[in-house]
Amino acid sequence: GTQSGIDYRAELNDQQYAAVTSRPGHALVIAGAGSGKTRALTYRVAYLLDQEVPAKSILLLTFTNKASREMLERVKELIPQDTSDLWGGTFHSICNRILRRHADELGFTRNFSILDTDDQKSLMKQLIASAKIETKNRRFPKPDVLLSIFSLSENTKTSIEDIIDANYPYFEEWLDEIILLKRNYTSKKLETNCMDFDDLLLLALKLLKQDEDLRQLYQRKFRYVLVDEYQDTNATQCELIDLFVGKKNSLMVVGDDAQSIYSWRGADMGNILTFHGRYPDACIYKIETNYRSRPEILELSNAAIKANVSQIPKELRASREKGSMIPAVIPLSDPRAQADFVTQRIQDLIDEGIEPNEIAVLYRAHYQSMEVQMELTSRDIPFQITSGLRFFEQAHIKDVSAFIRFVVNRRDEISFKRMAGMLPGIGPKSADNLWRAWVALPISKQEEPPLAFSEYLLEFKVPKKASAHWEQLCYTLDELVTRDGFQMPSEMILSITGGVYDDYMRESFDNFEQRKQDIQQLMQYARGYTDINEFLSQLSLMSTADGDPKANRKEEKNEDAVTLSSIHQAKGLEWKVVFLIWLADGMFPIKKIIETENNDQLEEERRLFYVALTRAKDELYLTYPTLNPRSYTGEILQTPSRFFDDFSQDLVEEWQVHSGW
Ligand code: ATP
Ligand code: MG
Repeated sequence: GTQSGIDYRAELNDQQYAAVTSRPGHALVIAGAGSGKTRALTYRVAYLLDQEVPAKSILLLTFTNKASREMLERVKELIPQDTSDLWGGTFHSICNRILRRHADELGFTRNFSILDTDDQKSLMKQLIASAKIETKNRRFPKPDVLLSIFSLSENTKTSIEDIIDANYPYFEEWLDEIILLKRNYTSKKLETNCMDFDDLLLLALKLLKQDEDLRQLYQRKFRYVLVDEYQDTNATQCELIDLFVGKKNSLMVVGDDAQSIYSWRGADMGNILTFHGRYPDACIYKIETNYRSRPEILELSNAAIKANVSQIPKELRASREKGSMIPAVIPLSDPRAQADFVTQRIQDLIDEGIEPNEIAVLYRAHYQSMEVQMELTSRDIPFQITSGLRFFEQAHIKDVSAFIRFVVNRRDEISFKRMAGMLPGIGPKSADNLWRAWVALPISKQEEPPLAFSEYLLEFKVPKKASAHWEQLCYTLDELVTRDGFQMPSEMILSITGGVYDDYMRESFDNFEQRKQDIQQLMQYARGYTDINEFLSQLSLMSTADGDPKANRKEEKNEDAVTLSSIHQAKGLEWKVVFLIWLADGMFPIKKIIETENNDQLEEERRLFYVALTRAKDELYLTYPTLNPRSYTGEILQTPSRFFDDFSQDLVEEWQVHSGW
């Protein structure tokens, strides 16, 4: 018997029920899209609480922090129990949480900063410059390419040499320099007490591997480990999971190999295939009913994915009744006409009573949403973009956090230089000199709180033009620290923007007012935090979709808006109506992959197509422009995506739309 009164039998099918109520041990739920994997995981949490498993013994790993929040909200509806002790979130946020407690064991402090993509790039630029690499007439990899090489190497545990060999043969001649830069990059991060996103995972793993006591501590804590979207875990994440589980704990993972879409970032759907080898006593559950989509949509999706050779055979039957339309394929004359059609149709649906938040427009690449954005704006239809809009990565938001980051982590060179560099008269060179002067101070003077920064910083030599501003900056920094720590996060922002930064913004940005509003919003957001490290981590990790912290976005959610999203970011979600746009060959699948003629990569594109199709509950519209005026060579004719060749044309209905309709 359970205390909550949840009728598990009635709300779950047999396979879900068996998984949800399984005894301690290991379990793999493998099933197609929309079959209730996430639902099973949610009910599993409720069930464990129902069985009086303490919330603090549960670890729930999800692909986004939002997904974990939503699952826990649902659990609360099911069972009135406090879940605040439950650890739920992305791998990055869980690892961050662990590192904030023990980073000193790795030579960092607990106040370490997290580098985002932008910070990484500027650090990389600095390192390339100081390595004085002679690149005349020869192509040296750009900072972001270097960073992807490093990341891929770490995440797939492959040597730099092999990565270059396999993926970047044209950089072979730079192998030594690249390896050297990798070493410098790693030591610079340690020196400046900074971690990038990969480090969060890798260093947490390193820590737990090297410190037996700590490992046991976490293994004793997390009796139940639950993982959603398991098909997209990479080697590091897989190892972390195995380590949390140890010999005694229970592991339940759910996933769908047909939806593995992150191999380009090192994800390995082989983790599903080898699961049984690693957990021989695991029970395997298969769900073969789809609860999400109308049969017409499901039939098309099943047919579309069949063309892939490498997949675990799965049946997926519809449980819902037939709907009122079969998926529509709509060729349109050009991108404008496509946007026009999509927007007009959205307007009609809204007029028919469909909620805007039940509608999504999905695309392969973010830039493909441009025309639709413009068209929606001009018709006053509210929309939200789940990718591309990186609120916390905007320059002025990062400027403000640079002050805070430096005060919290006084070895944070990037933030110090960013802060100093804002002052008129201080260029990269002066900023560098100031940094040198700072690190030349005895460590105790840098670290010892409380610290009157002005006491030391005012002595530094700054260009004449900057001296008044420099003074103001020093006093601003003083304000941020208090006798026993720091001002509250929101107070810190107020001190910064009330002082030196306000002048800077006025002088530097013509949209000063807009930026000021953004900062107001940041301050509003900061009010929810008392701990500065937690606030800063949150800024960096505000992952939204995809466990991809690189895709930070405006957190504020508009409940009443149409969603525009890349397919990657739409994973796990569902809408009544889905538009999939730009289905022209070369746009989806993308040209680069067609040209490589690499079948594995084409199969991954096809899985992405499958993910897109299976987001739709009731209506699905597939559109493409037949002419693309954006091409360099003028207009080019577009052929429909080769994915259309994978299924019988009876499964779709072609609509003819004439421009000016
Ligand atoms: P994806 O592969 O896209 O992540 P999923 O397998 O995680 O999908 P869910 O999102 O859990 O599927 O479920 C899809 C939809 O079906 C949801 O709206 C969910 O509430 C509903 N659903 C799942 N299982 C059942 C069930 N047994 N009875 C009724 N509805 C269900
Ligand atoms: Mg799911």
